[in-house]
Amino acid sequence: MAITIPRNMAEEKTSAEVLGHDFCHHLYYSQGKIGRTASLYDIHMAASRTVRDRILHRWMNTVHHLVSDDFRVVAYLSAEFLIGPQMSNNLLCLGLTEAARQGLSNNGFDLDAVISQEIEPGLGNGGLGRLAACYLDSLASLDIPAIGYGIHYEFGLFSQAIADGWQVEQADRWLRMGSPWELLRPDMAYEVGFGGHTTAYTDGQGRYSVRWEPAQVIRGMACDLPIPGYQSQLTIPLRLWRAEAVEAFDLATYNTGDYMGAVLGKIKSENVTKVLYPVDEMEAGKRLRLMQQFFFVSCSLQDMLRIHLLKGKTPEAFNETYAVQLNDTHPAVAVAELMRLLVDTHGLAWEQAWETTRKAFAFTNHTLLPEAMERWPVGMFGKLLPRHLEIIYEINRRFLDEVRAMRTGDEDLVSRLSLIDESGERYVRMAHLACVGSHAINGVASLHTELLKSTVLKDFHALWPDKILNVTNGVTPRRWVALSNPRLAALLDESLGTEWIREWEATSSRLAAYAGDAGFRARWREIKQANKFSLAKVAKERTGMDIDPASLFDIQVKRIHEYKRQHLNVLHIVSRYLKLKNEPHADVPPRTFIFAGKAAPSYFMAKLIIRLITGVSVALEKDKATRDRLKVAFLPNFNVGLGQIIYPAANLSEQISLAGKEASGTGNMKFMMNGALTIGTLDGANVEILDAVGEQDFFLFGLDAHEVAKAKAAGYSPRGCFDNDPILREALGLISSGFFSDGDGSLFQPLVDSLLHRDEYMLLADFGSYCACQERVDAAWRDQDAWSASSIRNVAGSGRFSSDRAIREYCRNIWDVEPMASLGDEVSFRDCAA
Ligand SMILES: *Cc1c(COP(=O)(O)O)cnc(C)c1O
Repeated sequence: MAITIPRNMAEEKTSAEVLGHDFCHHLYYSQGKIGRTASLYDIHMAASRTVRDRILHRWMNTVHHLVSDDFRVVAYLSAEFLIGPQMSNNLLCLGLTEAARQGLSNNGFDLDAVISQEIEPGLGNGGLGRLAACYLDSLASLDIPAIGYGIHYEFGLFSQAIADGWQVEQADRWLRMGSPWELLRPDMAYEVGFGGHTTAYTDGQGRYSVRWEPAQVIRGMACDLPIPGYQSQLTIPLRLWRAEAVEAFDLATYNTGDYMGAVLGKIKSENVTKVLYPVDEMEAGKRLRLMQQFFFVSCSLQDMLRIHLLKGKTPEAFNETYAVQLNDTHPAVAVAELMRLLVDTHGLAWEQAWETTRKAFAFTNHTLLPEAMERWPVGMFGKLLPRHLEIIYEINRRFLDEVRAMRTGDEDLVSRLSLIDESGERYVRMAHLACVGSHAINGVASLHTELLKSTVLKDFHALWPDKILNVTNGVTPRRWVALSNPRLAALLDESLGTEWIREWEATSSRLAAYAGDAGFRARWREIKQANKFSLAKVAKERTGMDIDPASLFDIQVKRIHEYKRQHLNVLHIVSRYLKLKNEPHADVPPRTFIFAGKAAPSYFMAKLIIRLITGVSVALEKDKATRDRLKVAFLPNFNVGLGQIIYPAANLSEQISLAGKEASGTGNMKFMMNGALTIGTLDGANVEILDAVGEQDFFLFGLDAHEVAKAKAAGYSPRGCFDNDPILREALGLISSGFFSDGDGSLFQPLVDSLLHRDEYMLLADFGSYCACQERVDAAWRDQDAWSASSIRNVAGSGRFSSDRAIREYCRNIWDVEPMASLGDEVSFRDCAA
């Protein structure tokens, strides 16, 4: 029996009046408050629930189709999803922003105050996690059937404070007030084993079989976050797994009088998803990290297999139901786990299981840095996952036999390709496991993919010339323009029509025609100016500093890492300061250098770079003679929300990594979409940004990847650069003198020494070229009108950096998945009656 509710109920509930009414309903019935007693927290919870109600109809309908229809679903496996604040994005997707504002206002509340109350889920470190979030947005917006699988960390990435110029980490208790968007599913849980041993036996049909008896079992419970698409019919589930004890309480232990011991198992189990490892581009090698990876991968594959079998399909047809994307090697153990499930649990023959597995998986490589290549000591791996190590050995044995058959006698090649690194202590190479177990491997920018083919994955490329593809990263124009830059969005609506939000790739280029329109350029400048004003306000609140929106905003925001070379930026700032001191009347346009980013807590050099930036900031602020022309601000706690304020306010985007080190970068794309000009090296997607806009609209400097490799091969030493450049010597001298560290000449010595003795990232080699390029920036900035035209052409050229373009490429070249045709409206509130 169906409840009698109008079919288009979802539409009728979008008026300001009904939204306001439902908000009051949630305030009263969910929060137990009335207007007079409600805190901002209550209002935020009630408002979020009101919005979530509007998402649920599309979500339930989507899930219904995912589990019942016969089409291929993308399963995006990622240990990180940096989704950012949800309220404003969900309102944007539903087209409810103004109605919600009005509905709240009718009751005396302010939507912006509610939005500012939200704590963003920091379930990622940086670019990799943010990429996963942009891809979910595009999948949903393009109506691609998909599900995201990840980890429900109780503590996300630490929040960063600055004390005495140093980074201080604070726990990110994002769930302390609960999350209004989540749907917890305590009854949807899977068991995941660890440790123990395996036993071989012969099954009823005389086949060799293996039984794994784990020493420990942990439960994974599903926590779902709805990811709506922009004006689309789909809302895709982001399913995050939370670890729980199978038995919360050990009664036998309790009865012996060991009260603490009785809950130890619970504590140990829950530890698995307690905290996100705060490391970026660096291998931690910690046992708990491997446990996290296996835990979420096993839950996800069990969930997928359950749904697949529910459709009445056979286990070997798994790849017909799912295209599984491995976002870096963090989920690579999935290759072994799917083999285990298919062979040990479902009784498939090895060859059949292997074919299914390879057809299901595809792998995205995100790094060329040797220290970021994940590998696990064989001993540790085998203790934790004994059956998986056996499976990996068997995969390896068969794979290396194939290699030997193809390249007889080349045992060097065999050991280079092996899944096991045997050069010293033995390691499992996760990238090799992912490559062998996938039908496609992709890099994330064209330079990166070419470097993969010629270096790290050279042997794989020689073996399988068609397997390595490129899919250049992208970012969503919904969050990174429509949401973060409403002023620009309004101008785009007017000049391009509103379809730019869904079709950025096809429409952005039409802006180029406006670059020649003086009136348009003036409006463009006003928008940038207003965005800079907004950022200045935030900078004042968070640092106490006054920054001048009339100055050039020169911005570098990203994780702090030596390869990203924030300290090259600082060296230039110090040289600029020296120039102002030496030539007080030099005509140098005022600039504000803005930095933000977190350092891994264990990464000493990165933390010292932050200390250097804050030291320079303080010292420059004290110099009355120069501070109106040269300022440095470090904004603490860079995250998605802060990024939404920063990217739209930039005049100049700093993308200055050593060529060949940054896989793609996505910050570079967000800056470009918001009208910043880039100063950058030929690294990552910078190469394609340059290609899209041309040299006249891009400030290019530095060695290219080929020149870097050549210089390194020739035994690069920074000493020559140092001896030949008096400005560089003076800048490093000022840092060593203690000028930026209250007279403490030793504070920055480790940094200076590393530059003078090793200079792994070749700052000294690029310093001269960088400073000369910065002078070209000054010259260009003097002609504001020409700068604006260039800014417009940058936005016009950014079409290809939409994550929609990237997702379409994945669909076509890797997943073989198509957008869903119009969905039937099959599940709704009417179906609640049993
Ligand atoms: C985009 C983004 C990044 C990645 O920035 P890169 O400049 O590509 O390193 C990191 N963190 C956050 C919060 C972001 O939004």
